[in-house]
Amino acid sequence: MRIEEELKLDYSDVLFRPKRSTLRSRKDVNLLRTYRFKYSKNEWSGTPIMAANMDGVGELGIAEILNEYGMITCLTKQHDVKKIKQNKKVKSMFQNIAISIGIKKEDFQNLDKIMKEFNFFKFICIDVANGYSEHFTSFIKSVRDKYPTKTIIAGNVVTADMTQELVLSGADIVKVGIGPGSVCTTRIQTGVGYPQLSAVIECADAAHGLGAHIIADGGCTCPGDVAKGFGGGADFVMLGGMLAGHDEGNGKLVKSNGSKFIEFYGSSSDIANKKHYGGLSDYRSSEGRTVRVKYRGKIKDTILNILGGVRSSCTYVGAPSLKQLSKCTTFVRVSNQYNDTFAK
Ligand code: 5GP
Repeated sequence: MRIEEELKLDYSDVLFRPKRSTLRSRKDVNLLRTYRFKYSKNEWSGTPIMAANMDGVGELGIAEILNEYGMITCLTKQHDVKKIKQNKKVKSMFQNIAISIGIKKEDFQNLDKIMKEFNFFKFICIDVANGYSEHFTSFIKSVRDKYPTKTIIAGNVVTADMTQELVLSGADIVKVGIGPGSVCTTRIQTGVGYPQLSAVIECADAAHGLGAHIIADGGCTCPGDVAKGFGGGADFVMLGGMLAGHDEGNGKLVKSNGSKFIEFYGSSSDIANKKHYGGLSDYRSSEGRTVRVKYRGKIKDTILNILGGVRSSCTYVGAPSLKQLSKCTTFVRVSNQYNDTFAK
């Protein structure tokens, strides 16, 4: 047994230190980024925030709005040819949609069918809860061999060594985060995890050294956390809970005590397993919870609030663009992130 003594941090453990700035207004902050990906050589420009491939979030209705802001949506794994065909606008938003798959034979077959029908899609997201298996890396290699010009996202991992391994196996973008998610119970069920900000800082450094990119996936509770992800070096920030509860997610609306709620659940929760896989196998336990999110109306308002927050973070630290945010970032460690007297 070994204990690592070095302190690891979550978003809530730090704040940005404000810096002198010549920026006049947050309006002047440019959130657009342009990336060229290591293997696919594809160039992408947009606002590097992503919707997670979770029910109620990774949906085509959400993609339509996010696309207007140059943001990417990772569709849920349940999006097959038939489901994708139902949306007539899909071709016009191909730049900002990722197809998600797991690592089963049927997932590969589903990918092949989708790519045959809609060859214009550019992003493939190979998503597993635990990205530390050999089978996962060999699966990435086979997808890379078959699709040399597609941009491959792979995860999740939380350490530099495995980030490098996934990149060397053919991933253009590594998805980072084990356990920080709003409806994730991995840390409770297994005791496994890594404080998200430190994971982002360490994995970004490893990926950038190899010319690859990372996504900070999970754990954002407010716009400030999104900015902290970028400040820590993330190229993209992926959101689940913060984008849940909106009309466009098509979730189940429930009324209780005069308020409206939308059901939201983890991808490995009981409810998701029942819905998509006919229940949990005996040897597995659920690693996700089901919650009721207060109904939040149109997603556009939430997006504007997030983008406004990130722009403001940039002005406070003197970053004229999102690209410069991490260079302008000094984090101060705190014992209290905010005053929540009236927040509850
Ligand atoms: P959030 O933005 O809600 O904090 O985190 C979203 C991320 O949580 C997703 O992108 C995914 O990586 C992770 N996640 C989603 N569902 C589950 C689940 O059921 N269990 C676990 N362990 N993680 C989940």
